[in-house]
Amino acid sequence: MSESDNRNRHLRFSVKAWWRILIHKLGVQSPSGPILGEPTFEIQWTLRELNPLRVLMDRFCSGNSFKCLTIILYIMNRFPEFIPRDFNLETYTPKCVDNHCHLYAYGEQLIDTVISRAKKSGVVKIVAVSTNAERVDENLKLMEKYRDMVVLSVGYTPKSMSENRINAEDAKTELVKFLDCHRKDVGVFSIGEIGLYKRRWMKKQRLLFKEMLELAKDYELGINVHSYTKEKEVLEDLQKYLKKYNHSVVLHAFQGSVKQAREACNKGYFISIAPKKSIGHEGFEREMKIIEDKKISIENLLTESDGHEVKKGDFSEPYLVPEVAGIISDKKGMELKDACEILFNNHKRII
Ligand SMILES: [Zn+2]
Repeated sequence: MSESDNRNRHLRFSVKAWWRILIHKLGVQSPSGPILGEPTFEIQWTLRELNPLRVLMDRFCSGNSFKCLTIILYIMNRFPEFIPRDFNLETYTPKCVDNHCHLYAYGEQLIDTVISRAKKSGVVKIVAVSTNAERVDENLKLMEKYRDMVVLSVGYTPKSMSENRINAEDAKTELVKFLDCHRKDVGVFSIGEIGLYKRRWMKKQRLLFKEMLELAKDYELGINVHSYTKEKEVLEDLQKYLKKYNHSVVLHAFQGSVKQAREACNKGYFISIAPKKSIGHEGFEREMKIIEDKKISIENLLTESDGHEVKKGDFSEPYLVPEVAGIISDKKGMELKDACEILFNNHKRII
């Protein structure tokens, strides 16, 4: 058997394996329905080629883009040895924005890889959200390091606090100090992450949320809000405290009902869609219902990674954002390029 035959066999096996893993891990479905374990015609076709990535790129550029993009991203991250040295997805993919990422979570060891993978996959901007003053400082350092890509969002959430440690006024004072000191020199993009969590002490949480909303009003900044399982209460508080507020409201990884999503969109809020890896199967299903709803316009949608450690040593990352854009384009029946352009412009509207 010649050397090229051998290589073809190897690729045949690898591509088949990739495809199986993809179906299993990412729950990939073709636009025309589920794929049941076997490579499709397009993928089989690539098996004859020595460079499957190049062929996928051709396919990617000539339609069928969502499926190919998902495969390419997967190959890039799991089998980088198959990637030609001069290959850069950025030149093919339209620009994408990660509107909610816990960038500090990756630590010094991972951060360079995370940023480089994000760039290669077409992500041009990351909103680094902070959940307390310590995280703000960590994100500030990252923002200074990756200035061309990262913008800073500052906020306080009750997530990592015990009931006794919540002091809404102190939290606000700390952020006021930071904003007064750094707002002009480094720039602050928005107030976030803020919001309500699955915790019992709702009264204290709401007090903190109120202070954070006041902060956004005082400093004339948009907000990046967590609402999972407390969508009703969050929407109530936004309505109550954000009168005469001219800045943007981003509901990150929103998983409320379609009715609540419509209500939010009618108020001009943005709904930010996270990848399945971040929010799990059920959360993803809820998001799908929102994206599929005909009354919810793509003009109200954003993309994000909600980048964080999903389970020990396993992270969701910004490189997953183009895939989210792919899903939105697929569900809205649009070309990926057109969908990405609108999603990118939506991000510009939240500035
Ligand atoms: Zn978050």
